[in-house]
This record gives sequence, structure tokens and C-alpha cells, in this order.
Amino acid sequence: MIDVFRPGNIAPHSGVYKVTHAQHHAEPHDVTLLFGDTFPVCLTCSKQVQFEVAISAAHRECASAFSAGYLKMRQAQFREWLLALLNSDPFAKFKSLVARYLPSGLRHGS
Ligand SMILES: [Zn+2]
Repeated sequence: MIDVFRPGNIAPHSGVYKVTHAQHHAEPHDVTLLFGDTFPVCLTCSKQVQFEVAISAAHRECASAFSAGYLKMRQAQFREWLLALLNSDPFAKFKSLVARYLPSGLRHGS
């Protein structure tokens, strides 16, 4: 089974990913991402673009023969990102929209 990734997903491997755009507005092409990178949004088809692993390859800094520190740094970054996600308020965007569109007299229970 081929794993398909969308914009906003986190790259599980460093390597080359095959990119397929919605309505094929662009020819499929390859892009390189590092482990922990966020898959990008397409400027034309936005989040309708998808990514599949073409070639999985360890970044040279992740290969223990070259560096052990980089992998630990990326793991720490991922852990921080995950903690921030877990501690984030899932209704923050909703609240900001309500605050923007709700008449001021109805805010804060007044
Ligand atoms: Zn596109």
C-alpha cells in the first residue's frame, strides 16, 4: 500500500516525493523533503495536491556514521511540535471567528 500525504502532513522520511496536482494542472514532478518537514500547499490547487514517497533516503546528518546530533535535534523539534499541538486550543480559530462576527454587545455574556 502506498502512503499518500497531503499539505500540512509531516514528512515521515527524508527523501524524494512524487507530487500529483489536482486536475493535473501541472505535470507530476518530484520534490525533496527532510524528515519532519511539513508538506507544502500548492499555489494553484492549494491542498488538493498529494505526495507519495518515490525514494526514501536518510539525510546525511541523520546517518549515525556522519552525525548523531542532528537526529536528536529533529526528534526534539518533533516532540516540541507535538506538545504544542497537544496543548493548543482546538477551538481557537472558531473563537476568533465568533469574536470577529458577533456583535460586540453579545460578547462575554453581556
Ligand atoms: Zn497544484
